Amino acid sequence: MNRLVVVSNRTADPRKSAAGGLAVAVGQALRASGGLWFGWSGKVVDGRSPGEGELRLQQAGNVQLATVDLSREDYNSYYLGYSNDVLWPVFHYRLDLAHFDADYISGYRRVNQLFAQRLAGLLRPDDIIWVHDYHLIPLAAELRAMGCRQRMGFFLHIPLPPPLLLAAVPEHEWLMRSLFAYDLVGLQSNTDLGHFSGYIGAELPADILGEHMFRAFGKTLQVQAMPIGIDVDEFTALGRSREAQDTYAQMRQEYSRRRLLLGVERMDYSKGLPLRLQAFRQLLQNYPENLGSATLIQIASPSRESVDAYASLRRELESLSGAINGDFGGLDWMPVRYIHRNVSRRRLPGLYRAASVALVTPLRDGMNLVAKEFVAAQDPDDPGVLVLSRFAGAAEQLRDALLVNPYDTRHTAEAIQRALQMPLAERQQRHQALLHNVRTQDVHWWCRRFLDTLAATPLG
Ligand code: UDP
Repeated sequence: MNRLVVVSNRTADPRKSAAGGLAVAVGQALRASGGLWFGWSGKVVDGRSPGEGELRLQQAGNVQLATVDLSREDYNSYYLGYSNDVLWPVFHYRLDLAHFDADYISGYRRVNQLFAQRLAGLLRPDDIIWVHDYHLIPLAAELRAMGCRQRMGFFLHIPLPPPLLLAAVPEHEWLMRSLFAYDLVGLQSNTDLGHFSGYIGAELPADILGEHMFRAFGKTLQVQAMPIGIDVDEFTALGRSREAQDTYAQMRQEYSRRRLLLGVERMDYSKGLPLRLQAFRQLLQNYPENLGSATLIQIASPSRESVDAYASLRRELESLSGAINGDFGGLDWMPVRYIHRNVSRRRLPGLYRAASVALVTPLRDGMNLVAKEFVAAQDPDDPGVLVLSRFAGAAEQLRDALLVNPYDTRHTAEAIQRALQMPLAERQQRHQALLHNVRTQDVHWWCRRFLDTLAATPLG
């Protein structure tokens, strides 16, 4: 059996439960054949020259973890800069928030070269290499330039934007050419696959050999839509933990006379939080029977705070939630509980289960795992309702949610009202269909599908 080598910006010890579904699934795949997981250590070293980073090896069961530190300059240009201030906004359709700085792209290339150099020395000829996400698009091209001929696959966890938006990135052609160094590229949704195909047809001297096969730069590439899922069993087990049970009991007691609506995300402009608060305001305005009852708990955990756009989003959310509470709240009820803190994964199943409605209304999202976790955490006999943005990758699979356009706040408010009023039989029937999907297309299914497709991909 070929050894699996996983490369991602960050690594995790797959034996620890705090690692989350992806790490658990990837860890399981790594353990099956004994494997190697390579990435940044998370440490930033001041005073070190750019492009330098020592390799550190650590054993976690039969999985070897290999990490490198980054210099301050590399961290700023590769991570905060090109990855999170260019690729993240543009790939989430926010050209207006991107900063095309020449230092960023050189740092991005340098760190991909550094990773390739450090990794190349650890590789065996028959390894299968699986690279994750937008930080590492050019990694295979760098490895190939060093003579590595192993089978290599890449999965993009964020959306791929429409061709004309992608074309606004000064290095778009280089980025897309870099993808052709892989043998397989996995995308989250059919929408993303359509964008890939549209870009190739319009911008590259390429042949579209079939729905999933493309040829350019003397190389054939397979591209497939493979939506990532959650580890339903792991998440259900988490729901039985003491923290989850206590959280559930506490919420049920505190909100026994109210209806609980819940939003859980990293604070990010892609998540549509200000428009969600406006939709909630319209719910209170247009459907006054919710006054004194509907309560939105919005968790927006701190994220990338040194990027400017995130600081202004934080101010906007504080102001919007303060205004709603000021306008509608009373001595015994506040409509919005806005929490700018991380909530432990162990508590989340309890919180999800106590909520009548989940609001998952991103403006654009590669997948959105919170939507799937919410479904997995419900009591099938008395399930809550999922209100889901049609612009989340998950909307292609979760057709039985109440799908909304988050820009249309009046309609979103209407959908929330419908969710709050939904009869038990309809809630059960929708939840059953959603759970079936979340269960069958879980993270293990995704992992197997990617690796089986990669193993069967003809080289060339
Ligand atoms: N999450 C968490 N605590 C929080 C907020 C989020 O553990 O306070 C977890 C959540 O359970 C989910 C993940 O972070 O597993 C978010 O994944 P998603 O795909 O929804 O969004 P992303 O943050 O990757 O854009």
